[in-house]
Amino acid sequence: MMSKPLYLGKILLHWCGKCNVPVLGTKCACGSFTKTVTITPPGDIRPAFDYDIQLINFVSMQQFNAPLIDDKKVVVLNKAPYDDRMDEIIVDGVVLGSIRFELDSLKWVLLLRVEGARYLFQCKSLSDMKNWVILEHDTVKFILAGANLLAPGVIDADPNIQEKDEVVVLNPDGKVIATGRARMSGERMKERHKGVAVKVRDKDEAKEKVLLCGGQSWEDVIDANKHFMEEFIASSHKFIKNVASSMNKPVTVSYSGGKDSLVVLQLVSECLEDFDILFADTGIEFPETVVNAKEVSELYGKPLRFISSGNAFWESANSFGPPSVEMRWCCKVCKLGPIAQIIEENYKNGCLTFIGQRKYESDTRAKSERVWKNPWVGNQVAAAPIQDWTAMHVWLYIFMRGLLYNPLYEKGFDRIGCWLCPSCSVADFYRLKETHPEFAAKLEDYLLKHARKYGLSPGWVEHGLWRWKKLPPRLQEIAKTKGISITPKSAIKSTLEFKMISGYRPCKQGGVSAEGSFDITLDLEKIKSSGMLEAVGRVAFMEGVASVFQGDNSAQIFAGGTVTARSDSEKNVREFIQSVERSIMRALRCSGCGVCVGKCPQNVIVIKNKIAVIGKECIHCGKCIDICPVVKFS
Ligand code: SF4
Ligand code: SF4
Ligand SMILES: [Zn+2]
Repeated sequence: MMSKPLYLGKILLHWCGKCNVPVLGTKCACGSFTKTVTITPPGDIRPAFDYDIQLINFVSMQQFNAPLIDDKKVVVLNKAPYDDRMDEIIVDGVVLGSIRFELDSLKWVLLLRVEGARYLFQCKSLSDMKNWVILEHDTVKFILAGANLLAPGVIDADPNIQEKDEVVVLNPDGKVIATGRARMSGERMKERHKGVAVKVRDKDEAKEKVLLCGGQSWEDVIDANKHFMEEFIASSHKFIKNVASSMNKPVTVSYSGGKDSLVVLQLVSECLEDFDILFADTGIEFPETVVNAKEVSELYGKPLRFISSGNAFWESANSFGPPSVEMRWCCKVCKLGPIAQIIEENYKNGCLTFIGQRKYESDTRAKSERVWKNPWVGNQVAAAPIQDWTAMHVWLYIFMRGLLYNPLYEKGFDRIGCWLCPSCSVADFYRLKETHPEFAAKLEDYLLKHARKYGLSPGWVEHGLWRWKKLPPRLQEIAKTKGISITPKSAIKSTLEFKMISGYRPCKQGGVSAEGSFDITLDLEKIKSSGMLEAVGRVAFMEGVASVFQGDNSAQIFAGGTVTARSDSEKNVREFIQSVERSIMRALRCSGCGVCVGKCPQNVIVIKNKIAVIGKECIHCGKCIDICPVVKFS
């Protein structure tokens, strides 16, 4: 089923026929009008690196025995929506096809359009090519009318074609008519059995390939786009200056080691003298990213406010299980919390942070304001100077200024983040095996252990199904056809469980009481030194018992694990005992992520020896409780 096109901004890709280069608007710098290139929205186009071209040619060789892309061509890629990674390939202003990572076969597949097949098959002898099918003259009209190719219409075919192979369909004169996927083997096609031989995906009249000349270096692309780039740069400069001057706050740039934040850093450096660079090492960053962050900060001669989450991810992974698209606890534990800490420690009255957010990246980002208050980090105002840029603008600017970009972009990564982010594609994880086999092995080992413990199949790991709590329909289908067990045999149980042992009862002294129990004895010293119960109310500790009071509510916590609470109504006692339970959880399982630090309006939470401690000035507002990942994800 086709999903609705996702428009996040104007589709900007055009092509100058005279210069033969991509242009980000209707007029090239040479004065010629450009033609629109029809690509799939959202249209976050980018240049292909050598690695990408080699991958396309490798797959093209495997499928058709010839490379698709000639040397020295300027190639543009356009990320298109799909179950996993998919890019449209644009050369000479024409979409030649797409390359995508298919989740059932776990392989890259090149899906040619007719234009791409012309590129590949024109002037070649069929004896040198693979996966071709020749149809009868009389059948052409049916194909052009939208029919699939039936086996009786086949004259000849590569006998080595296997069912599900991508194939190119030619007329008896050797001209490409269609492309699609084989529904039977080449041998069976030749035998002209009944049934569909090729499910046609793209079709067109027989034509010669039109060859464009000229251009074809990224310097030419920069020249052709100078006027557009100057416009975008000037608008971002103006934005940076306006936001910085309208706010009386120290300026920072959040650097992630990725291309977008690099561009923001450069733009800010062209406008402002004083700013710091913030970098939060999540502990699951690529080493190349950490090195790049340090090199970049030296190059700009600006202080690098660096914080590392160390082993927090792996420690938390044991309690929370693998992160998923729906439950990205790692963002809070390893990124937002540490950033809140950097800001807390260095900017007492908060700061303005320029970040590399762009609208073409996602629907959420497209809907975001350009300047906003970070809900997770107290006193941080974030601003996005390149909100309207496509990845192509970003790269052209990087090339124009010769910026020091992360070398991972040349190894096939199109976005740089944590190496085990659940938002990564399965293609990214397979690439990780090539580029960083030790990380891939660590992740696989962890996931397989988790799978064994909960009765999930190894396929749950292999096909990247671990990245969702609830699988999207296409992945459910893959799990079903491959017999992959995706339902944990036992609920994922935490080691610190709280059960209500008697319900809500009216008590003799009036009001309602409740009683529950943890499945372990409680370390009251640890709970006391964390100050976590303060978030619920006034606290008093006596031998083996802690008491919490807040208005009509009170609770007692016993070292043996029992908790009793009393309040004026069932609703209130339920909420109160739950807050107590959550605070005990936080006290005993805090990972020191720091998320609560930025949320506290009184600034009374500090991280000491890698755990959060609430100070005596706490006003018991409870704002720090529910945002804590221990509470949210346990
Ligand atoms: S947010 Fe701050 S003041 Fe409010 S309960 Fe937590 S520690 Fe106390
Ligand atoms: S208590 Fe604070 S620092 Fe500790 S895990 Fe929760 S949010 Fe993070
Ligand atoms: Zn031109």
